[in-house]
Amino acid sequence: MPETVDVAVVGGGVIGLSAARELRLAGVDRVVVLEREASVGQGSSSRANGGVRAQFTTRANIEFSAFSIAELERLDAATGLLGFHQTGYLLLCGTEAGEQGLRAAFELQRSLGVDTVWLTPAEALERAPFVRPEGLRAATFHARDGFLDPHGVVAALRAEAERLAVEVRTATEVTAIEPAPGGLDLRAGDRALRAGFVVNAAGPAAGRVAALAGSDLPVVPVRRNLAYVREPDAPGELIPMCVDLDTGVLIRREASGGFVVAWSDPSDPPSWETTVDPRFLEQLAQRVGNRFPLLEELPLDPRQCWAGLYPETPDHHAVVGPAPERPALLHCAGFGGHGVMHAPAAGRAVAELVTLGGSRTFDLHPLRPARFAEGDVVVETAVL
Ligand SMILES: Cc1cc2nc3c(=O)[nH]c(=O)nc-3n(C[C@H](O)[C@H](O)[C@H](O)COP(=O)(O)OP(=O)(O)OC[C@H]3O[C@@H](n4cnc5c(N)ncnc54)[C@H](O)[C@@H]3O)c2cc1C
Repeated sequence: MPETVDVAVVGGGVIGLSAARELRLAGVDRVVVLEREASVGQGSSSRANGGVRAQFTTRANIEFSAFSIAELERLDAATGLLGFHQTGYLLLCGTEAGEQGLRAAFELQRSLGVDTVWLTPAEALERAPFVRPEGLRAATFHARDGFLDPHGVVAALRAEAERLAVEVRTATEVTAIEPAPGGLDLRAGDRALRAGFVVNAAGPAAGRVAALAGSDLPVVPVRRNLAYVREPDAPGELIPMCVDLDTGVLIRREASGGFVVAWSDPSDPPSWETTVDPRFLEQLAQRVGNRFPLLEELPLDPRQCWAGLYPETPDHHAVVGPAPERPALLHCAGFGGHGVMHAPAAGRAVAELVTLGGSRTFDLHPLRPARFAEGDVVVETAVL
């Protein structure tokens, strides 16, 4: 007979660890995390920029952010591990279309209780005097946004999960998932497991894990690059996470000095490649001066760039819910560039799906797996 558990979580990144923690907090008895690498948090979670924001354009993402920011604040206060700097995000735009989109998102955020403020160009420049003012039309700012250390989030979630008696099995790859009485059977490393529910939290590999169970999940890996730019002088004061909506470039200052700079090419195809894209520095150099001329003067060093994989979906929303083909398989994947920040909400949603059969905290309808087959998707446009 296979070993039995209540819930087996496939993937020990921020999403899987958060789900396991919330499942135990909700009273689920036997929860196991199955991670193929030698330690948890080595996948996309280890490559993230650590940005946290409520400034999205859809209700689903804003509500996930609002819940998660409060939980990340609590977790940072409780563990001291997150390094959560609430510098705010400053979104800057210089086009008429950009301003209209920013206004609509701002109004939606406010209607959902997020305290985003609308800034004139002069007010934006007070917050970020280094921004190039030419053509700037408007900006928004949310003070509880900011950035944190993704490794700290992994460490805190792992510690909490283990304190709650979650069993974390590393070096354990899930290679088969099959229907069984009362749930699903898994092949995990060299062992057989029977689980009431299986949570697919395999990040960029979630489509592959879904396929093991005969479920079609459009989550694909897309390479994203980041650059660190050293400052010649002593570290300056922290700045908001500044986003140039006209080009998609975002910058922040590290607490220890220097800037982290990001730009995502929307035309990048799916890829498992995690080395830095050789075109990245040139693409960045062409755009960074639009709003951030101070960075044009500092040297971009290819040795201080890194890349990782966004687990992407066609509508830039995560997939959270039971697989239509296998209701005991709960997908919780496809978080794109917002998985670290949304991990608390993702975990809570999974725990409620298991214990209540649906979520009482979130409306998961826009995130349901069936939306792609039904052709009923809402697209998130604030993709960075
Ligand atoms: C350059 C970059 C910048 C980013 N910036 C941000 C940011 O500023 N803010 C933010 O919130 N997010 C950001 N992200 C996105 C964020 O990193 C991801 O959305 C998040 O880490 C996804 O977490 P996950 O747990 O789903 O995936 P992962 O961390 O990849 O975890 C999935 C785990 O599943 C394991 N696994 C896969 N298949 C199997 C199997 N068959 N059996 C067992 N284990 C398996 C993997 O080994 C992996 O450890 C960024 C990502 C990148 C690449």
